Amino acid sequence: VLEVRHLNKKYGETVVLPDFNFEVQRGEVVVLLGPSGCGKSTFLRCLNGLEEIQAGEIKLNGQIINADATKWHVVRQKIGMVFQSYDLFPHMTILENILLGPIKAQGRDRLEVLQQAEKLLERVGLLDKKEAYPSQLSGGQKQRIAIIRALCMNPEIMLFDEVTASLDPEMVREVLDVMLELAQAGMTMVIVTHEMGFAKAAADRVIFIDQGQIIEEATPELFFTSPKSERAKKFLNIFK
Ligand code: ATP
Ligand code: MG
Repeated sequence: VLEVRHLNKKYGETVVLPDFNFEVQRGEVVVLLGPSGCGKSTFLRCLNGLEEIQAGEIKLNGQIINADATKWHVVRQKIGMVFQSYDLFPHMTILENILLGPIKAQGRDRLEVLQQAEKLLERVGLLDKKEAYPSQLSGGQKQRIAIIRALCMNPEIMLFDEVTASLDPEMVREVLDVMLELAQAGMTMVIVTHEMGFAKAAADRVIFIDQGQIIEEATPELFFTSPKSERAKKFLNIFK
């Protein structure tokens, strides 16, 4: 469903991604691993136009999406993204936060979106928080809301960038469980995480990146038990 060919990304003279090639199939869950600064976030940001790229091609359902900068707002409705910081609007209730995009950007019917939102809130156990404000929620709750907000746009793909990195340990689980459920429900997902247990459980495929290049690509079973490269071995040792 998503295909990236020869993506080149620089910040000024600094090459972050020299020649990145990547694809994800519908329903597939791909986890990106790699040391800090290797370019994981930059890559995800390139996928929905948050970073300008210097060369290469990004295709969604066979159509090039990076040729016309004015079209990114359309693409972002199909490629949902959740970050480490939840970015909920503080002055709006949880429900208003969730409904904003589908109603304003997609012009959908309020009642229809409301029903979808309430169903999702119920599924993650947060329906009773719908009238609350973000400041009244825990980090884990806010992050689950951020996921729901992205889901309510009915994206074809979800990108996750270290969504549990700033959470207290006891809240990490509840967010990962939502993501695991989503993966099992068949959502196409590209995930950057340092939660190795989760990566093992959720990923169909693991991609190990170092210095902007793909060093290894394997099933989680293979990657975690017998990484081929020295760099991947060294990386995995940190988590032992
Ligand atoms: P982490 O695991 O720490 O989140 P990462 O793999 O997500 O790391 P990126 O954030 O993609 O790494 O950064 C890749 C490289 O690009 C780093 O060397 C970083 O310093 C550089 N970089 C990122 N954003 C910018 C920017 N806006 N301007 C200049 N350089 C940047
Ligand atoms: Mg990052």
